[in-house]
Amino acid sequence: MQIKRLRLSGFKSFVDPADLRIEPGLTGIVGPNGCGKSNLLEALRWTMGETSARSLRGAGMEDVIFAGTATRPQRDFAEVSMLLETDDAEETEVVRRIERGAGSAYRIDGRDVRAKNVGLLFADAATGAHSPALVSQNRIGAVIAARPAERRAMLEEAAGIAGLHVRRRDAEAKLRATEANLQRLDEVIAEQD
Ligand code: ATP
Repeated sequence: MQIKRLRLSGFKSFVDPADLRIEPGLTGIVGPNGCGKSNLLEALRWTMGETSARSLRGAGMEDVIFAGTATRPQRDFAEVSMLLETDDAEETEVVRRIERGAGSAYRIDGRDVRAKNVGLLFADAATGAHSPALVSQNRIGAVIAARPAERRAMLEEAAGIAGLHVRRRDAEAKLRATEANLQRLDEVIAEQD
């Protein structure tokens, strides 16, 4: 999977709509302190489903919305769109939008989806909001100090099997529910005898 374009509107310091095309090869982002380089990485993680405000350097999830400056009023929403090219050369657009007081919502190719669908899309591509490939300044220490179980989770994510774990948990829950139904059915049948 390749990220081809990031489009931000009202996200943190990106108050005006901004497009960032990511060409094949190595991309570097340069600029003076505080110009928004880290905000771009956070926009990626947020669109991939990050749910921790703290790891986005905010106190609450709405802190990603442009908060206003001396000359510009705050915005009521933030939206980030990611254009992806999947391994079979198809294009997919993932959009996350948050409105003040209304929470956030996701769309994949224009269809409303749940956070879980977005999580699975990226987990299958061995990436995602918690991918070890996205290293923010404060995570460098965390990677070094990771416990064995955390390190294993990083390896599983890198190997692209994190999505399988989510599906296994879902399948196990369905199995338990089906077993409970079967047991109930046995009881009903026994009552009929
Ligand atoms: P450095 O090189 O120092 O790490 P950087 O280029 O990575 O800086 P960021 O940390 O991405 O810069 O951007 C910080 C800027 O984003 C600050 O000026 C901050 O005021 C602004 N900012 C963050 N959140 C918001 C928000 N919700 N509304 C408006 N501006 C915001």
